[in-house]
Amino acid sequence: MIAIVGGGIAGLAAAYELSTRGVPFVLFEAADRVGGLVRTEHVAGFTIEAGADSMLAQKRAGLDLCDELGLTPRLLTSKLPRTAFVLHHGALHPLPSPAVLGIPARWKALATYSLLSIPARLRVAAEPLVPIKATAGDESVGAFYRRRFGAEIVDVLAQPLLGGIHAGDVETLSMPGLFPRLADAERSGRKVLRWIQHTARTGEAGGAFRSLSAGMGELAESLRRRLPRDAVRLGSPVTALAQVGGLWRLTTPGGRVGAGAVILACPAHAAGRMLESIDVRAAEICGQVRYASTVSVGLGWARDGIAHPLEGSGFVVARASNTVRITACTWVSSKWEGRAPAGQVLLRAYVGGAHDPSAVDLSDQALLDIVVRELSAILSITGPPTVARVDRWRDAGAQHEVGHLARITELEGRLARYPGLFIAGSAFRSIGIPDCVADARAVAVNAGMFAHET
Ligand SMILES: Cc1cc2nc3c(=O)[nH]c(=O)nc-3n(C[C@H](O)[C@H](O)[C@H](O)COP(=O)(O)OP(=O)(O)OC[C@H]3O[C@@H](n4cnc5c(N)ncnc54)[C@H](O)[C@@H]3O)c2cc1C
Repeated sequence: MIAIVGGGIAGLAAAYELSTRGVPFVLFEAADRVGGLVRTEHVAGFTIEAGADSMLAQKRAGLDLCDELGLTPRLLTSKLPRTAFVLHHGALHPLPSPAVLGIPARWKALATYSLLSIPARLRVAAEPLVPIKATAGDESVGAFYRRRFGAEIVDVLAQPLLGGIHAGDVETLSMPGLFPRLADAERSGRKVLRWIQHTARTGEAGGAFRSLSAGMGELAESLRRRLPRDAVRLGSPVTALAQVGGLWRLTTPGGRVGAGAVILACPAHAAGRMLESIDVRAAEICGQVRYASTVSVGLGWARDGIAHPLEGSGFVVARASNTVRITACTWVSSKWEGRAPAGQVLLRAYVGGAHDPSAVDLSDQALLDIVVRELSAILSITGPPTVARVDRWRDAGAQHEVGHLARITELEGRLARYPGLFIAGSAFRSIGIPDCVADARAVAVNAGMFAHET
């Protein structure tokens, strides 16, 4: 039997892989539901994502899994126009299209890029003159953007856009760890701007992101439905792990359970606690993975109460040039079909992250007051929201910082000494749904070889 600790998308994908192979397993999930950071709420006709809102289509693992689950007809492509904006000095500036991570792929778009000052546009255009650092090791997103595209772009673009995706700080987040394609372009001896121009020309058509008709929670639910009912134990936090006579022994509220292999698909801090009695250094490495806390605030509003056209996918906030507390806002019903009843719109604002760690401690009312006041000013909204939902994610977003890749390599080396002990999910090698799925399924294949042990 294989034990899976954690029923987020990684744990579920591992369980699904084992079940398709006929390998017996039990999945232990601390919460009273599966999905982890993937959860959809249906409130008064609105479909509100509490966590992840879509999957990157370019990484096939998410879409392939949907296909296997029969969900392909339920996949949604984000609506047009997909323009995203940056709030800079109180005004919304459109990001050019096509662009890769905010860097325009066409000279004309760069020349008219209102977000950047003219010297900053010239500095981006001069990127091909910057010497290639093919041996660049791990470096921060901020350092990479500053080196290749100049200092101004870090505050107005890299932090809100790339930092915002991970609710992190671009001065600590790892460029090769989180945005390997751009980092690899330079490592392979390419000028990054030329690579961006080439990639945009040959890029995937039809929208970069996909969701599901009933929200991303549909993926977690579909996975759960494919698993044997008695193999999924909800409300079952694993509190200790030990190696006893070549087997793994897990302590759970329901008693001790023996397993031939264990897949730790839980946050690093939880994995670290379990590893303390097994390998102190492995536990220490897990403890070094930092987490950010964020709050997602979903708000329904009458369409005619919002003067802004909401033509696009939403905006991120350049915090250096604004005093607002929200970090971003998705115009959910402009982005996806069927998320709000007729005559209504759904907006989703984010507060917190690495730069505002105390936001998660504010009361619901305080958070709503902030978000409603700020959105009303930015989008010219009159009247109160018709629906409001606050979802807190405390210490939930793993921060893959500079040094993370090396630490995880060391962690894997440590764990290789203990046959049948595996890690999977966003705490370790992967970030985002498709990578978590791919990672967990690959791990499950290896773990499955230990099934005969019990
Ligand atoms: C607000 C937000 C928005 C996001 N948006 C996107 C997006 O649009 N697209 C995208 O691809 N990604 C997005 N992400 C990231 C994505 O959601 C995660 O990378 C992915 O869901 C992580 O899955 P996981 O299974 O590794 O971890 P988790 O979802 O964190 O699951 C871990 C599970 O382990 C359980 N657990 C913890 N301790 C124990 C224990 N002791 N015993 C048993 N169980 C335990 C937890 O309860 C949890 O269910 C977003 C994340 C957040 C927070």
